[in-house]
Amino acid sequence: MIDRRNFTLGAAALGLGALAAPIEAKVRRKPAKMLDVLVLGAGGSGLQAAWLLEQQGLKVKVLEGRKRVGGRIATLTDQPGYPEMGFNSMADGYGRGFDAAERAGVEMVEVGARYRFGKPPMLWLNGKPLTREEWAKFPGNPFPDALKMTLPGELVAVLVSKNNPLGDWTAWNDPANAKLDISLREFMKAQGLSDEAIRLGNDVSPYYGTTAADVSALMLEYNDGFVKAQFAAGPRSMAVKGGNIRLAEGMARLLKGDVLLGKEVIAITSSASSATVHCRDGSQFTARKVVCSLPFSTLRKVKILPGLKGVQAEAVARLPYQPLSMVFLTATSPFWDEDGLAPGMWTDGIAGNVMVQRFGSTPDEITGFIAQARGGLANQWDAMGKEAVFAAVTGAIGAMRPAAKGKLRAAEFFSWKNEGFNLGDWAYFGPGHISKYVNHMAKPAGRIHFCGEHTATGARGLEGAFESAERVALEVLGA
Ligand SMILES: Cc1cc2nc3c(=O)[nH]c(=O)nc-3n(C[C@H](O)[C@H](O)[C@H](O)COP(=O)(O)OP(=O)(O)OC[C@H]3O[C@@H](n4cnc5c(N)ncnc54)[C@H](O)[C@@H]3O)c2cc1C
Repeated sequence: MIDRRNFTLGAAALGLGALAAPIEAKVRRKPAKMLDVLVLGAGGSGLQAAWLLEQQGLKVKVLEGRKRVGGRIATLTDQPGYPEMGFNSMADGYGRGFDAAERAGVEMVEVGARYRFGKPPMLWLNGKPLTREEWAKFPGNPFPDALKMTLPGELVAVLVSKNNPLGDWTAWNDPANAKLDISLREFMKAQGLSDEAIRLGNDVSPYYGTTAADVSALMLEYNDGFVKAQFAAGPRSMAVKGGNIRLAEGMARLLKGDVLLGKEVIAITSSASSATVHCRDGSQFTARKVVCSLPFSTLRKVKILPGLKGVQAEAVARLPYQPLSMVFLTATSPFWDEDGLAPGMWTDGIAGNVMVQRFGSTPDEITGFIAQARGGLANQWDAMGKEAVFAAVTGAIGAMRPAAKGKLRAAEFFSWKNEGFNLGDWAYFGPGHISKYVNHMAKPAGRIHFCGEHTATGARGLEGAFESAERVALEVLGA
């Protein structure tokens, strides 16, 4: 607890002097009807938490830094096929997701068949194309015999799926599993993979981290369990007709309280009876409780008084976030018909993973391509900047496939690391982080409660964000 004098001193010490006087005035006046909950962040978890709390009769306000809702639900609504820069699709086991979609009044459509339609993407190594069968016999294939048919982009998922030592994936954060919290590199080495196999199968395009050395194998094992549970629930991948952003917009419309945009949170101060949230524009809001859905990557820039402690403070300061950048491309003519090769390309070069977008009226219509860079390549793209990336990606594809030369237009560049309100795509756990952080980092800290995909323990992605919203709502109601 902090008294008024200490708060003023603390705020001044933090460079919040300008904010201190108005806060004192507010504390003295005591607003007649205090808000019950301030929800920070209008992504999936924040919107879901706000709705759940309102359903229980609480008075809620949402503060969002961006000028839009949705967070990592991010559709390019001005591009053909409404390409998704963030959340793509829900699997059949997304009960909370489908429920939210129904409430929000959006129509869900099956998109999984569109991902798989047409010729499967080819592997391009050193600028030369290989089919799966050619790759299996390729002299430079460094994978063990049993995995020769596995493409580099599939390797980690296949390896973890076949050798997952985690009996019950839902118990991934049980301290009994701490022995599995080793690096993915160590795990891959134990399966007999060479350095070259690890480089090509993970480090060129890592799902988590920048190399196999900086991600926990246990995280991949948990993810594998979640994915298998989704397949067991059904085969579909569902997305929102007209763009996933409509889901977030529909969820925001359901709220009775305000969703205030452009409210970048810079500080949270708590007293014995309330918490006050300070925004960069000078505005401040007080409520009994705060639900914070901010990714730790941005929360670490927010001043919290009294401060977080111990392992929780360390996790907020250190939890790593994935570098991932994307370029959306359109084609002026179907160069893939001209050269007869598959339109999709997984490359080991500067073009990254070039994924086909088939979101026209029928799946045979190609509405564009998303070239995706992860880990080290994403960092490289970010350092190059948009125009240089556009030139490098279209140039590299044109050099590999002369039929594509001059026919690709780079329309958008999107870097999750450079998005100031995310500073990375998703949270991942480094070796040892799970045993150290997971069971402590989302605990309530005084009047602040935490949600968001990074705090989910029973689901991943958007479903995890929704799961965390349920947990936090129960926590607030029970507090
Ligand atoms: C490329 C990509 C593909 C994905 N694909 C899938 C998929 O296919 N399936 C799936 O289930 N999941 C997928 N996901 C993950 C899913 O999108 C996220 O897990 C989910 O949207 C996260 O929701 P959240 O509420 O936890 O975080 P966010 O959506 O990030 O919400 C946090 C909110 O806080 C705001 N904020 C941050 N800092 C501040 C501040 N200082 N002040 C005020 N506001 C602030 C942000 O603007 C944001 O709106 C994908 C994500 C990405 C990036």
